[in-house]
Amino acid sequence: MPNRNIAIIGGGLAGTCLAKLFQEKEVHFHWYSDMNSSASHISSGILNPVTGRRYALAWNYDNLISIAKEFYGQFLVPILLEKHFKPFKDEATIDEVILGKEKYLSKINEEWIGVKESYQLRTNDFINLISENLHKNKQVINKEFNYTLLHHTENQWHYQDHVYDEIIFAEGIFIKNNPFFNYLPFQPNRGEALIIDIPENKPSSVKKHGKFICPFGEQFWVGSSFDKVDIKAPLHTEKTKQDLMDAIPKLIGDSSYQITSHLGALRSTTPDRRPIIGEHPLHKGLYIFNGFGTKGASLIPWCAIQLMNSILKDKSVPYEVSITRI
Ligand SMILES: Cc1cc2nc3c(=O)[nH]c(=O)nc-3n(C[C@H](O)[C@H](O)[C@H](O)COP(=O)(O)OP(=O)(O)OC[C@H]3O[C@@H](n4cnc5c(N)ncnc54)[C@H](O)[C@@H]3O)c2cc1C
Repeated sequence: MPNRNIAIIGGGLAGTCLAKLFQEKEVHFHWYSDMNSSASHISSGILNPVTGRRYALAWNYDNLISIAKEFYGQFLVPILLEKHFKPFKDEATIDEVILGKEKYLSKINEEWIGVKESYQLRTNDFINLISENLHKNKQVINKEFNYTLLHHTENQWHYQDHVYDEIIFAEGIFIKNNPFFNYLPFQPNRGEALIIDIPENKPSSVKKHGKFICPFGEQFWVGSSFDKVDIKAPLHTEKTKQDLMDAIPKLIGDSSYQITSHLGALRSTTPDRRPIIGEHPLHKGLYIFNGFGTKGASLIPWCAIQLMNSILKDKSVPYEVSITRI
């Protein structure tokens, strides 16, 4: 794509995946990252085909996962995922829940369901590797992108000494500060997690019993919470810390553990739980890539390809994830 110049704003998983794709296509771009820790950096990075208490199948999962496997390569690790099953009044039994979903679910015993086709993304390792490579090429600009310095001429956007054909905003919930896209219905959702050391009897599978436990580097991640909050809300609360601590014995039994950190970040969610992608209806050349909610790890590679095809090949973004549906 000769002479094209793109700016990607945001150093989370969304911006990283876009940067990887445009690099592979040899499109020239700058990647603006304010280096702040965000949802991506504290995520457990789990991809699994079922969601919620009723084990509903996740949207488009087979397609998303086949793209994700190729996209993330070695950073996507298959996991053994076990979910505790508790029947609710008037709801399905364990056998009824599994019926028809045998491709993804198996009965371990009366209380536990095995979830097949599950993976964990080593998110921070992936982001760091892409970012280190692009740093060497001097394509990363470690500064907050300042919207007030952006000017438009007939077909291009000017920012400081640079001229861009397209600017893609992948800013997570900080999109709320973006004057071009803050009219969209993004809602902050706070998630907290504890990082714990377990010296002996380390869990051998990823488990969910009320909360999840999974590896996080050499340690373990216990989470999460889902709280609709204001953008200015604190990222950590004592109440959630206590809820997470209360869940730990169900996950690791009597094993001793030590809390090494308490993490919190805001997810960017949408009313219909689908991302919002595509070009601004009025400001040509400005794009949104946002709203990945609780499922960024599985959604982002597929969505990044859709956005890239819309920019480079003029293909429409699928309606289910397009800004045109808003
Ligand atoms: C506790 C928790 C657990 C989670 N677990 C999972 C999971 O198991 N599986 C899963 O799929 N998803 C999970 N998620 C969700 C997942 O993390 C998100 O869907 C995904 O990371 C969103 O990535 P993003 O890049 O869009 O946003 P973000 O990670 O928020 O990144 C946006 C980045 O852009 C930067 N930025 C914003 N504005 C500017 C600007 N003007 N200039 C420069 N930089 C800017 C921000 O500082 C930030 O670093 C979890 C989230 C949380 C909070």
